[in-house]
Amino acid sequence: MDEIILIKNGELALKGLNRHTFEDMLIKNMRQRLTGLGHFDFSNEQSTIVVKPRGDVTDMDEAFSRLCRVFGIAGLSRAASVEKDMDTILKAAEEYLGEKLLAARTFKVNAKRSDKSFPLGSPEICSETGGYLLSKFHHLKVDVHNPDIIVNVEIRDTAAYIHGNQVKGAGGMPVGSSGRAALLISGGIDSPVAGYMMAKRGLQLTGIHFASPPYTSKKAEQKVCRLLEKVAMYSGRIVLFIVPFTEIQEQIKDNCPEELFTLVMRRMMMRIAQIIAADQNCGALITGESVGQVASQTMPAIACTEAVCDIPVFRPLIGMDKDEVVAISRKIDTFDISILPYEDCCTVFTPKHPRTRPTIPLLEKAEQALDIEPLIEKAVKGVRMVIIHGYKNDDEGEI
Ligand code: ATP
Ligand code: MG
Repeated sequence: MDEIILIKNGELALKGLNRHTFEDMLIKNMRQRLTGLGHFDFSNEQSTIVVKPRGDVTDMDEAFSRLCRVFGIAGLSRAASVEKDMDTILKAAEEYLGEKLLAARTFKVNAKRSDKSFPLGSPEICSETGGYLLSKFHHLKVDVHNPDIIVNVEIRDTAAYIHGNQVKGAGGMPVGSSGRAALLISGGIDSPVAGYMMAKRGLQLTGIHFASPPYTSKKAEQKVCRLLEKVAMYSGRIVLFIVPFTEIQEQIKDNCPEELFTLVMRRMMMRIAQIIAADQNCGALITGESVGQVASQTMPAIACTEAVCDIPVFRPLIGMDKDEVVAISRKIDTFDISILPYEDCCTVFTPKHPRTRPTIPLLEKAEQALDIEPLIEKAVKGVRMVIIHGYKNDDEGEI
């Protein structure tokens, strides 16, 4: 009995003519995610992608858990692949699903027959399989409405597949299918969640982090890398650009009104991020801002930040409460890293009384005290690049 993984794609099904491009992208992403676990063959069989391991050294538990984090998948199941013969199918159902059937109280059988030459029709397959399982597992009862386990028997062209309940996939669209965007990532709770959410919509991520040594430490930078490793388990590999921000922050501190520190700084971040974004083919910026969360995220403050941006800024958390964001950060396992106490460049020069209703002319006036162009140029020149992997070895193919 061979074990395989069956993949049902989600929104892909809606994409009409683009469907094949999307499917190819999904398969490429799955292949990349499974690098290091052995060889897998991918084939497309009637709205299902079949993932078959080649050889027997493959770690199927790990493969399945990795595929659960690939966007563009609505549901997935581990399945037994056996010869298309009813006796073999019954034995395989008993054996392969035995543990699950023992734990269940009720079940039903679903049969799908795409090989029309198979001698039994779907209703007969259901009744034979159901009868056989009832004779082997005496505690089981049939419940067609709300069963604990659905025993699926699929008669395909090349083999019969047997599997239990489908597991929910990560949803969304294949990473890369919507293009690329630059995630401004701090060490906080919000920005990793924002990155995860936009990767789910099919965006490939480039990371940008502003660091202000010696005010911020190496530990703070490592924290950002660890956060991105978690995001990369969903988004695939991320190239992170670390921007030296110390001089800019010191210049702001020495020359601008204290109540505008944060906003001048955020506008500088946006200007620099756009230069990196253009160079890396990113069509948008992504931030973890949410209306009203802090002084720099009031509506007038966001308008001031937005005013220096020529490309769209995606803020997927804009209407979310903190507890909703925290729930996602726990789900993607970034929360415990985010709450580690290392300083962020934003917190180093936080004004005591930030202005909550700033205006663009006020900021433009404040910025006249800065030599903006040379400061930006110097920061961009000093950028360092780090490549972040979600899993060891997932480094096949181009970035
Ligand atoms: P987070 O939890 O993501 O840090 P926050 O609620 O603390 O967000 P701010 O610190 O005001 O809010 O930052 C708002 C957004 O600006 C962040 O979500 C992030 O996208 C970006 N940002 C802030 N600090 C940095 C940084 N040091 N490097 C890169 N981006 C940053
Ligand atoms: Mg922050």
